[in-house]
Parts: sequence; structure tokens; C-alpha cells
Amino acid sequence: MQENLDQFEIAVSQIKKAAAILKLDQGMIEILTKPKRELTVNFPVRMDDGSIRVFTGYRVQYNYARGPCKGGVRYHPNVTLSEVRALAAWMTWKTAVVNLPYGGAKGGVVVDPKKLSAAELERLTRRYTSEISIIIGPEKDIPAPDVYTDAQTMAWMMDTYSMIRGYSVPGVVTGKPLSIGGSEGRSEATARGAMYVMKAAAKTLGLDTKKSTVAVQGFGNAGSIGAKLFSHELGAKVVAVSDSHGGVYKKEGLDIPKLMEHKAKTGSVKDFPGAKNITNEELLALDVDILVPAALENQITEKNAGNVKAKLVVEEANGPTTPKADEILHRNGVMLVPDILANAGGVTVSYFEWVQDIQSFFWSLEEVNKKLEDVMTRAYNDILPISKKDNLDMRTAAYVYAIKKVVDAHLARGLWP
Ligand code: NAD
Repeated sequence: MQENLDQFEIAVSQIKKAAAILKLDQGMIEILTKPKRELTVNFPVRMDDGSIRVFTGYRVQYNYARGPCKGGVRYHPNVTLSEVRALAAWMTWKTAVVNLPYGGAKGGVVVDPKKLSAAELERLTRRYTSEISIIIGPEKDIPAPDVYTDAQTMAWMMDTYSMIRGYSVPGVVTGKPLSIGGSEGRSEATARGAMYVMKAAAKTLGLDTKKSTVAVQGFGNAGSIGAKLFSHELGAKVVAVSDSHGGVYKKEGLDIPKLMEHKAKTGSVKDFPGAKNITNEELLALDVDILVPAALENQITEKNAGNVKAKLVVEEANGPTTPKADEILHRNGVMLVPDILANAGGVTVSYFEWVQDIQSFFWSLEEVNKKLEDVMTRAYNDILPISKKDNLDMRTAAYVYAIKKVVDAHLARGLWP
């Protein structure tokens, strides 16, 4: 039978696996496997040629037992409610893994942003923000960037929400530019957090990062900055990276800043001088020490998991590995640091940004990075013993750890009325 790749069904199966280990009762499992609140909006946008197009957007608030909801906004033509729901569920466990006082949410708009002009994207962003403004806010739900959204998108969202309220509300979104209450270190935070857990996991495996080779799938915010930090700060050799057009490989290691320039100039990492073009499938199967999926979901599946030769997989992307692939990797002795831990650096510095906005008191880059390293390393060190104790893969251990925190919050609050 073919593996089911529906993201929300994958998310539910992950919850149920941890719930069985925690011996949760049926009522609690039902609470945890259902989103708290979902909003679908269909909204018109005037295009540059004067025509009107109607776009569909979503905002899902999955669970807020532990605090206000938190999660990014994704612009992609394949966005579905099931995907947004799964991403919102993952945010709930992610904020719990790194001990942030938040619940989980996610948003998305079905759009190919590469086909819109900057002015069209601004109008789309502003209208989407006004449509979801009834459920977001610094105490309720705080959006952030995700795939194909960035600091500029957040600036438009913050401005639109502030115009509706009649005063500036910097704490309504995170990942903003520094000039309007963004945080030092936010743009690098996801990759930097992944680097800290990579360092810790390499130590567990007895891998010397200075002698390790790395392949990175995806060369956007998470992937390109990750590739730079893994090579420049950990001393690892990044031999391959890819984007939606394909990948490149160089045995001696790629010059990441030069590759970033090449991508900025040509729109892709492909045809980088001195490197060999490879496919995304080839990248996943390379004989490297560490593999970093940093693109989209369902990249490592039951079909190709057996080809993975890396000893360590660090999931910078959300949901890149399917449950069947998880089993195969675990059986083959591959250690996988799951998304809800590996890419939690982004939401952690988002939390720092929100705290700074609320206090109107801003921290230095050194302070941000030091606090981030503490949070990431502590979470890794909390989860590793759970995995070791019962020979659980790191994903299941992270779920057990996170879900227990959410369950404790539900039990402490009780059921109203
Ligand atoms: P991005 O839009 O900046 O980059 C996405 C990259 O993936 C692009 O380089 C694109 O070309 C590439 N890509 C798309 N399809 C591909 C394919 N089939 N094969 C190979 N590459 C492909 O997005 P991002 O912010 O870097 O996010 C990437 C992943 O990291 C997502 O899963 C996202 O949810 C996750 N993530 C991002 C952050 C963050 O702070 N940016 C935080 C947590 C998790």
C-alpha cells in the first residue's frame, strides 16, 4: 500500500504515537488531534492591469493551552488547509519543546508569489492581514515569516494591523525589519538554532564537525544561512546544496557566499562554476555525514529513505520526513533531529522579538545568540535522555516531551465550564 502523504494525517499519527507512550486517555487525545480554531478567507486583490483576482487564505490556531498562538505565514501555490493545519499542530509542539509560553498556529495563502509584482504582493498581504485581523494580535496570535514570505511581508502586516487599530502595534508579528521593532539575529535564527543542535548531536554521535561533510536541500532563508553557518562556524564541508531548480555538488566543498551571489544573479544554484549539477534525489542519497532538508515537506519518504547514507539528519524544514521514512532511518541507525527541535531557533528568536517589543527594550546580537544557544542546547539535552531510555527515535522523544507539557497545561487549567 502506498504511504499516505496527507500532512495533517501524518501530524495526527505522530501525536497518537506519543499519546500511546504517555498513556493519555481518549478525551485528551481528541483535544490534541483537533485544531482549536480555523479561519478560511477568500479575498479580492486588484492586479496591476486593473483586473480583480480572488485569493484563498487560511489561519489555523491549533492549540493555546500554554499561551498565545504563534506561527508563520506561507505563500505557495500548493498551500492547503490540511497543510496549514499540520504546520499549526507542529508549531504547538515546537513552542513546547523549547519551553516558550506559546501555543501553535500557522497561516497560508494559495498564491505563486513569483508571478506577482511587488505592488500586487503588498496589496495581497495587506488584504489578507485585514481579513485575519479579527483573530490575530499580540495577546492572541502572532504571525511570522515562512516559505516565500519575509521581513518586508511582516512590515506590511504590522502596518496594516496598526492602521486598523489606530496605533503602532509592533508585537503583532515577528520577523520584522529592525527599524520597526525587529530583533537582532532573527533572520539567522532558524539556521543558527539548527547549527547549535547539529553541534550537540554530532557530539553525541562522536562526529567531529570540522571533518564532516554536509548536504543541504533548499537554499532559501533556512538552507542558505544554514549552509553558511555550518561551514563558517562549525568548520564543516558543505559539499552539496539544491533549490527548486536542482542542485550542485563539489567534493572539495562549496564557497557558500559566492554561491549566494550566483543564486541572486541567476535565480538558482544550478550551473555554479566549478561544481557539478545534480538532482534533488541525488542530493538526498549522497555519501555525506550530515543531511539537512531545508525545503518543503515529504522529501524523505519510504521510497528514498533507504538510500540515505548520512549518519545524522537535521530537519531545518518542517515535515520533510514521512513516518515510514522515520522508521527506515531509525532501523538503519541514522540519527534524526526532528523539525520541532532542529528548526525551533526561528520561533525562539521570534519570542525574544515579541518580548523586546512588549518591553520596548532591545538586546544586543550577542545577548540574543547566547540566549538562543542556551534554549536550543537545553531542549536537546532534555530530549536525548528520553530517546535513550526507551530506545525511541528523537522525533518520538521530542513529541513525548512536548505533548506532556501541553497536556499538563490542559490539566492544570481544567475544563470550562
Ligand atoms: P524560503 O522560501 O526562503 O526557501 C525555500 C527554498 O526551498 C528555496 O530555495 C526553494 O528553491 C527550495 N525548494 C522548493 N522546492 C524544492 C524542492 N522540491 N527541492 C529542493 N528545494 C526546493 O523558505 P524558508 O524560510 O527557508 O523555509 C524552508 C523550510 O524551513 C520550510 O519547511 C519552513 O517551514 C522551514 N522553516 C523556516 C523557518 C524560517 O525562519 N525561515 C523557521 C522554521 C522552519
